[in-house]
Amino acid sequence: MTKKLLLLPGDGIGVEIMTEVEKLISQLNKSGKTDFSIETGLVGGAAYDAYGEAISDADMEKALNADAVIFGAVGGEKWNDVPYEKRPEAGLLRLRKDLQLFANLRPAICYPALADASALKKHLVEGLDILIVRELTGGVYFGEPKEITDLGNGQKRAVDTQVYESYEIDRICRVAFDLARTRSNLVHSADKKNVMKSGVLWDEIAHQVAADFKDVKFEHILADNCAMQLVRAPKQFDVIVTDNLFGDILSDAAAMLTGSLGMLPSASLGAPDPATGKRKALYEPVHGSAPDIAGKGMANPIAMIASFAMALRYSFEMVDLADEVEAAIAHVLDEGLRTADIMQDGCSKVSTSEMGAAIFARL
Ligand code: NAD
Repeated sequence: MTKKLLLLPGDGIGVEIMTEVEKLISQLNKSGKTDFSIETGLVGGAAYDAYGEAISDADMEKALNADAVIFGAVGGEKWNDVPYEKRPEAGLLRLRKDLQLFANLRPAICYPALADASALKKHLVEGLDILIVRELTGGVYFGEPKEITDLGNGQKRAVDTQVYESYEIDRICRVAFDLARTRSNLVHSADKKNVMKSGVLWDEIAHQVAADFKDVKFEHILADNCAMQLVRAPKQFDVIVTDNLFGDILSDAAAMLTGSLGMLPSASLGAPDPATGKRKALYEPVHGSAPDIAGKGMANPIAMIASFAMALRYSFEMVDLADEVEAAIAHVLDEGLRTADIMQDGCSKVSTSEMGAAIFARL
């Protein structure tokens, strides 16, 4: 059956890097390796200019009907003064909310050719391949009350509320264990059960889920120790599952073990459909629309192409093809091709489309 993709390039370099993904899909379709049908839509500033909204209802409908959404990046100075609820980022937030994307997947993969570019010693990061699974729709970012109160005595009090219900912990842990089965079969669950009630519940539910995945090795780790271990010996990890706040911090730390922003893909997954077992999903690079280099052919398309590889792996079970795409990326880096953001001595500088073409040629 044809698989439906919705491509939302967005703004700035989002458009340039999405062009490379379109070329890749067209090549894969022509070779018979895939059978994707593509729809496109507008999001962010581009959608605001066309429809006065950060995403139109019609494009939202396409997203709801797609097997996966491939998202570029949004934002730019041009839209700094638009009303808050229509700002470019509102399009991404609506997609996450309406598709109920509660699981954020942030891999940290260190390509051998870039091991020297890491802030850590080469032997610590060479061959690194870890996946942070962050709960995205609950926890302290959304819990109520969330307020600043004037106490009337010259003091103010600020309150954020960390709140989790067991079903939220259960479903994110299940995503982590499912994914571990497709990787190295190891899950660490990071919380602060030593000082937080939400951590106690998190750990209780994580253990319950672990009991359903006896083939996957399970370890508890305190979130602060996890941060320390990530910079001490990151290769000890495979999958780390954690809440919204700790995941925000740990995934940024883990991602930067591997170098440039232009290299980092991500995925956000929803709950499986009870009838089909398929999850709603959105795949996007971690970086933004990079207005400073937009339109100059300088953007690194690797984060975008690697995000598409995640779609092949997690939405379409095309694990071998995802491996091939990732191997093609590793190969062109080994050959010394670099966009400006990852340029190193002795390497050849290439444009966005040249980097894309080299990866496709390898495939
Ligand atoms: P950014 O990620 O766009 O850029 C930060 C720096 O990294 C810039 O110097 C940029 O040139 C560089 N960079 C980023 N991606 C690159 C790539 N693929 N290749 C080469 N260099 C790359 O972050 P910013 O400058 O803080 O934000 C710019 C705009 O993007 C803002 O409007 C911001 O709100 C928006 N933003 C959007 C998203 C998103 O769409 N998910 C995420 C972050 C920021």
